[in-house]
Amino acid sequence: MTISVIDVSANGSQVSYRLSYSRAVKKYFLNDNYFVRYDNRIDTANIPRSILVIPVVSVIAPVAWAIGADMEMEALDETYLRSLNEIRKVLTNWYPRFSTFGTLNVRNVVRNEFGGPRTGLLFSGGLDSFTSYVKHKEEKPDLISAWFEDPKLHEEEKWACVVAAAQWLGERDGLASLKIKTDLAYFNKLLLCDEFGFGNWYAQVAHGLQLLSMCAPITAARDIGRVLIASSFHQDQLIPWGSHPAIDNIVSWARVTATHDGVDMSRQQKMRYVCAKDQECLTKLKVCHIDPMNCGKCEKCLRTIVGLCIEGINPTNCRFEFDEKTLDNAKALFVAGKMPLPNEVVGYWTEMQRSLPEEPSRDVIGWREFSTWLRGYDFSRQRPRTWRRLPQRAGLHLLRFSRSITANHMTRQHLKFIRHFGICSLHVALHRGRHLLVAALRFRRPFNSKPQP
Ligand SMILES: [Zn+2]
Repeated sequence: MTISVIDVSANGSQVSYRLSYSRAVKKYFLNDNYFVRYDNRIDTANIPRSILVIPVVSVIAPVAWAIGADMEMEALDETYLRSLNEIRKVLTNWYPRFSTFGTLNVRNVVRNEFGGPRTGLLFSGGLDSFTSYVKHKEEKPDLISAWFEDPKLHEEEKWACVVAAAQWLGERDGLASLKIKTDLAYFNKLLLCDEFGFGNWYAQVAHGLQLLSMCAPITAARDIGRVLIASSFHQDQLIPWGSHPAIDNIVSWARVTATHDGVDMSRQQKMRYVCAKDQECLTKLKVCHIDPMNCGKCEKCLRTIVGLCIEGINPTNCRFEFDEKTLDNAKALFVAGKMPLPNEVVGYWTEMQRSLPEEPSRDVIGWREFSTWLRGYDFSRQRPRTWRRLPQRAGLHLLRFSRSITANHMTRQHLKFIRHFGICSLHVALHRGRHLLVAALRFRRPFNSKPQP
C-alpha cells in the first residue's frame, strides 16, 4: 500500500496538492486533490516545496501509520522528517492497533534554516487560546486561525465568529491575524474510527500535529521561530489525545519549534488568570461547537458558564445565551444522567466544584441555588448510559440543523456534506459487512456435520 504526493503547486496564497494511492488506500481518502489557502499576506511562491508539503503530510502520515502504508514524496524538510519518526513512536505506543509496517520515502531531504525571533499562536477564540494569548501578549504573536473545512453543517458561520474574535484582538493590540482554510478534513475519518475504535479521529489522533503543521509556510514567510498551541488539559489530567505535550512539543521544521502551552494551568485557573489580567477577552469567548455564537445548552457552554459564574462574571456579558432557566436546565440534565460527560470532561467539573466560592454572587440569576447544589453533587455516581443521553444529543443535532438551514451557504455546503457523508458511510457499511461475512463463514457448521450424541 502506498500514498504518494505527486505534485505540490503554489499559486499566490494557495498551495494545491495532488495525491495518488494504491487501490487499497483510496477508500480512506476519497479525493485526489486538496488545497490549503493562506491569508493574502502570505506569498507561497518563494517558500521551498519541502516546507509547502508539510500540511498535507501531517494529514496523510497518521493514516499511513494506522493502516501500514508507505508514503512517497519528492522533498521534505529534514527536521520535520525526524519529528514524524518520533511522533509515530508515541502514537503506536498509545494505540497498539496501529501498524508497525510502512515507510516514509523522501527522494530529497532538505535542510532549511529559517526560524526567527517572532511567535505564532494558534487561535480558536476559546478560553485556552485566549489564556495563551494573555500569557504571551508581550511577544506580539501572530494570531493564526486554521479552518479545516470540516464536513459538518454550519461551519462557515462558526469560523466567521472565530475570525472576528481574532480581528478584534488584532486591532486592539496591533497584531496580525492570519486565516488558513483547507479542505484537508475531507477524508474518510468515519472509516478510520470504525476500523481502529476511535470516537473522533481528529480529536484523539491528529489535531495537534495537523494544526501546527498548517503553520509551516506562514513561519517561513513571517520569520516565526516558535508556534504555540494552547493545551486543553491540565498536566494531571493528560490522556492519549491528538494534542498532547508528547506530540506537540516534538513537532518541528527548519529551526521552528512548537510548544504545547498552558499545561500547568487547569481550566478554572485559566479563567481566573484571564479574568485578572485581561477581562475584556472574556467578552469575545467562542467555545461552542453547536452554534456560531455560544448556544448556552451544550456541555461545553454550560461548563464555561459555570466557570464564569465562579469568578463572579455574568455569562450574558460573554456572548452566551443565558436566562433564568439555563442553570436549572443544567441541574436537571445532571440529575437525570443526561449530561454528556466523557471521562476527559469530568475533571473540569470536579475542579469547578472545588473552586466554588463560599459566598456565591447574587448578580447572576439562579447561580446561588445552583452553586449550593453543585457543591454537594457526587460526580463519581455520574455514569450516564448512552441511551439516556440520546435525547440530549438528538436535541443538540436538531438545534444545529435548525440553525444551519438559515445559513446563506446552505445549498452548496449541504450538498457537499451529504455527498461526503454518504460515501464515507457506504465504505463503513462495506467494512462492517465484510467482517460479518467473515465471522459468519468462520462459525458456519460444516455441511456434512451431524450433531454429536
Ligand atoms: Zn454550546
